[in-house]
Amino acid sequence: MDGDDVRRAIRRMAHEVIERNHGVADVVVVGLQTGGVPLAEALATALTEIDGHDVATGALDVAFHRDDVGLRPIMPEAVTDIPVDLTDRIVVLVDDVLFTGRTVRAALDALGGFGRPRAIQLAVMVDRGHRELPIRPDFVGKNLPTRRDELVDVSLDAVLLGELDG
Ligand code: 5GP
Ligand code: MG
Repeated sequence: MDGDDVRRAIRRMAHEVIERNHGVADVVVVGLQTGGVPLAEALATALTEIDGHDVATGALDVAFHRDDVGLRPIMPEAVTDIPVDLTDRIVVLVDDVLFTGRTVRAALDALGGFGRPRAIQLAVMVDRGHRELPIRPDFVGKNLPTRRDELVDVSLDAVLLGELDG
């Protein structure tokens, strides 16, 4: 996907979020650190442009909630910033890539500290398969079948499939 494809996918997902939730009044968009944050901001911007209402956005760092915490390096620049009480809100979690589902499981765990949302939905730019948990996305930019040893490069300018070692 090139930058136009990514922008169109974000716009389509914004329409789907609005249709599913009958508007954006109760919607809070939360990006998963770090790859989901710029996508969450782009999705919130599209939601506001299409629906005409401001949409609260936040960021969630799930490092300490992962089942492999201690086995992976912690990124010091990642931050959790949830600016509103999530009770009775509809949380749209946003990430760049959905793979095993373990990051999203950790995010559901981490969100527990911020209130009791009415619903939590999941938007990802790329679903690359290989799920290890019963987790599925509600909104998908692109379904991209991959091998386990491949890596998808996601930005607002492109989505590219590559080998792990270049
Ligand atoms: P999971 O936890 O579902 O196994 O992996 C998803 C998380 O790992 C996401 O936060 C995503 O940023 C990262 N991830 C997994 N596979 C890829 C990939 O192919 N490309 C990128 N950019 N991130 C990935
Ligand atoms: Mg990530």
